[in-house]
Amino acid sequence: MAGCLLLTACLTGLIGGTTQAATYSCSWGMPSRTFSMRYANTISDTWKGYVTTSRSRWNSSGAGSVISISSVAGQPLTIKRYPSSTTWWGLTTAVMANGKLVGVTVEINTERIANYAPAGKVGVYGMSTMVHEFGHTMKLKHNTVNSVMNVNRDREVTNSPTSYDVANVKACY
Ligand SMILES: [Zn+2]
Repeated sequence: MAGCLLLTACLTGLIGGTTQAATYSCSWGMPSRTFSMRYANTISDTWKGYVTTSRSRWNSSGAGSVISISSVAGQPLTIKRYPSSTTWWGLTTAVMANGKLVGVTVEINTERIANYAPAGKVGVYGMSTMVHEFGHTMKLKHNTVNSVMNVNRDREVTNSPTSYDVANVKACY
């Protein structure tokens, strides 16, 4: 089914070829850079703060994004401990209806982040994950350059959109 194909593309990120510096590629994502997220489960104030900072990093980056939080409507954002066997840090999944993308869901796995982040670094690792997933919501794919979309990035260092990421979003809209 279409949703699974899109999910697979999200996880592997390299379907269709490789990515080179100064070239931009776009995947599926929200039809607009202006959209709301809503908390789909109970989330601590600490993690809400990471969300606020991650949104601000995109919204002030020059990429043209306006990501807001709404308590009543918007794209579901789930932040929780998934089972320890869960291998992903974050997951953005397309929501399809009649063959068209009508929204996204974003999930953040605090278990995985807590297991890998050095002491005192859960926040920056969490924000690196969230900024990455928000990149997916705005059509960004994985790449191998200096980018928050590089799956091999140092999450302690790269937790904001880079100039490449900003240019890539602008190229997609
Ligand atoms: Zn990803």
